[in-house]
Amino acid sequence: MVIQEAALRQLSVAILRHAGSSADEAEVVADHLVRSNLAGHDSHGVGMIPYYVRFLEQELLWPNIPAHLVRDDGGILMFDGGRGYGQRVAREAMEAAIERCRSTGVVLMTLRNSHHIGRVGTYGEQSIAAGFVSIHFVNVQDHPPLVAPFRGSDARFGTNPVCIAVPGGPGTEPVLLDMATSKIALGKVRMHMNKGETVSDGTLIDHRGQPTGDPNVMFRDTERGALLPTGDHKGYGLLLACELLAGALSGGGTIQPENPRLGAIVNNMLAIIIDPGRLVDLNWLGREVDAMVGYAKGSLPADPDAPVLVAGDPERTATRLRSVEGIMVDDTTWEEILHAGETVGLARAEAARLSTPG
Ligand code: NAD
Repeated sequence: MVIQEAALRQLSVAILRHAGSSADEAEVVADHLVRSNLAGHDSHGVGMIPYYVRFLEQELLWPNIPAHLVRDDGGILMFDGGRGYGQRVAREAMEAAIERCRSTGVVLMTLRNSHHIGRVGTYGEQSIAAGFVSIHFVNVQDHPPLVAPFRGSDARFGTNPVCIAVPGGPGTEPVLLDMATSKIALGKVRMHMNKGETVSDGTLIDHRGQPTGDPNVMFRDTERGALLPTGDHKGYGLLLACELLAGALSGGGTIQPENPRLGAIVNNMLAIIIDPGRLVDLNWLGREVDAMVGYAKGSLPADPDAPVLVAGDPERTATRLRSVEGIMVDDTTWEEILHAGETVGLARAEAARLSTPG
């Protein structure tokens, strides 16, 4: 079905409220999820609500937990997320880091022990809105590993995202690189499986470490396969860097097996926030960003139907389209969302009313 942004927001807020969140928290989490759908990243959108409801029941995720400042050392801020909603605690930690950056010019912020922080680009967008540059490394704990090391034969990492956010110039939009370090996200493998399609070469290996195009290998209880890192040894280097920078330096820990794995999704993040005005003249910077982006995009497309883009363009295009045309939610995901609502006491009739326009 296709559902409009406002209706999806309303329904998401209602389920999160029934699941125990305060009105403010429900708004923040729902806003993050719906904006992920708008940006085209359905894997981090409202389809996560059923997982969150299950983790709440299992007491692996807690509602109404604010970001807790554990160290304040000038340009260093360290937070603990207390297994609260990552969309809330990471947002609060970023707000504090951005505020501090106004006086220090650069801030190193860490967040540990947060439940799933979702689409990391959301935090890059917070920096951009303040006129700041930011760099984010994130690792995943608590969840079974999904990604094999380069040359390895089994999963030993999460899909560890990296994000780099740079405000645009007077004539350009911001550059927002926000990527998993696996070849593709697990949610995208699931989409291939549901459609009965194979995935492209170089994406997956089976339980023996052999290349496969069969997406089912990722969803078996035993003899499970693994995703491969993006960019061979280079992506693998970033995958490991996320463990060491986000996992170890935050104090949250890496995915190594001595650390507990209870089955939910815990993220640790290390973010560097930079006030570019402390480094260079902002007018010059804006012109330089415009010129460089223009130079890259000026390359004649090898395929006339596929123009040269910069990071952030696909999400902006998707947001423009989906804000008008609505967000497509597949039947399986829709049923899971309604079921999650029922589990926390939101009747289907009420869910249907909330998700109907007007
Ligand atoms: P993706 O592959 O769709 O895009 C990755 C980046 O490439 C984006 O910045 C995008 O703008 C850019 N891009 C895409 N096409 C381009 C083109 N033709 N030219 C130039 N740039 C282009 O994204 P992904 O790697 O599947 O990640 C999806 C989302 O999943 C991200 O938001 C990420 O933060 C999130 N994620 C979260 C977690 C977590 O644990 N919280 C883990 C993994 C991924």
